[in-house]
Order: sequence, then C-alpha cells, then structure tokens
Amino acid sequence: MSDDRKQVEELSLTEPGDAVSSVSIADHMRKILQSIGEDPNRDGLRRTPERFEKAFRFLTSGYQQDPEKLLNGAMFSVSYDQMVLVKDIEFYSLCEHHLLPFFGKCHVAYIPDKKVVGLSKIPRLVNMFARRLQIQERLTNQIANAIQAKIAPLGVGVVVEGRHLCMVMRGVEKESSQTVTSAMLGSFKDNPKTREEFLSLIRGSK
Ligand SMILES: [Zn+2]
Repeated sequence: MSDDRKQVEELSLTEPGDAVSSVSIADHMRKILQSIGEDPNRDGLRRTPERFEKAFRFLTSGYQQDPEKLLNGAMFSVSYDQMVLVKDIEFYSLCEHHLLPFFGKCHVAYIPDKKVVGLSKIPRLVNMFARRLQIQERLTNQIANAIQAKIAPLGVGVVVEGRHLCMVMRGVEKESSQTVTSAMLGSFKDNPKTREEFLSLIRGSK
C-alpha cells in the first residue's frame, strides 16, 4: 500500500465521509489543477484529487449531522443553577468566501434551568457546526442557538476567537491578529454581572 493511500484511509477512519452526491469532487479538482497550469498526472499529484475529495468531505461532514440528534439522550435533570463553562474548545472551520481555513478557540457557557447537557457534547456541537462552510459570526450564533433551543437554559454565552488564513495568507491581517465574535442570550445578555463573570473566566485562558 502506498503512503498516499494509507493517509487517505486513515483520514476516512476518523469519521465516515458519507458521499453526499455522486458528483466526483476529484474530477473537478483535476480540472482545477489543469487550469492553474499543473499536470494532474505527474507523480506527486496523481492521487491529489482523490485525497482532496476525502479531506474536503471530512471537513464539511457537519452537514450530515443534526444538532437535535447530537444532543438527544445527553440531557440530564439537575438542581445546579450556576454557570457551566467549557472553555478553550479547539475548532477548525472553512470560510465560505474563500474555502480557506479559519481556526481557533471557542468558549461556551450557560446557566441551567433544570436541565444540563453532557459536557462532552459541547465540543462535538462546536465541531459539527465548524465542519460546514462558515463565517465566524454564524458559527458563534449557531452554537448558542442550538443550546438555547435544546435545554432552554437561563442564558447562554459563546465567544469564538479565530484566525482566518484567507486574511493572514493574503496579508490583509497581521499574522497574530484574531477575530473575536460573541453571542449572548438570556441572562448573559441582560445581566452584566453574568456576562462579566463569563468573560473574566475565559480571559484567564490565553
Ligand atoms: Zn475568507
């Protein structure tokens, strides 16, 4: 087995790359390579279109997942009414304007009202929305709205800190600069103390 093929298969083990359509992304990619003056048949590129297709399907596999199903069965009734915070969740997404990566950290907090969601589900929820074509603002809102819709907490706060390669690689943005977006719902929006507690808890994480 060639190294190339091994890599493709390892990638597919991470998550099944269910084919959405029978249209071969690889065939299109061969044309794209030609259009930039490359020879898609030369040794190094021979399997690149297939590798690209596999990777791209994995990076957009969030379309195959449903937040409802992901959170179902992971909700618990509790009397806990303090802030639940999961911080420094790493995410990798693709900007929908350039199909280039943006990535960074996501911090999610909520104050339960009788119901909590399994802690491990929160990073999975972040990944699910990140593995779609996104803009950072929508990614942030979708995470907050999904939690709000599923467990109706007293409030939800989401902060996303991202670096966008479409900006960095083109020199539009300095290498070290970050884009920060936030979504505050319920008590996180209405109560400055709650919001401040959340922001001070995540500030210590950098
Ligand atoms: Zn972009």
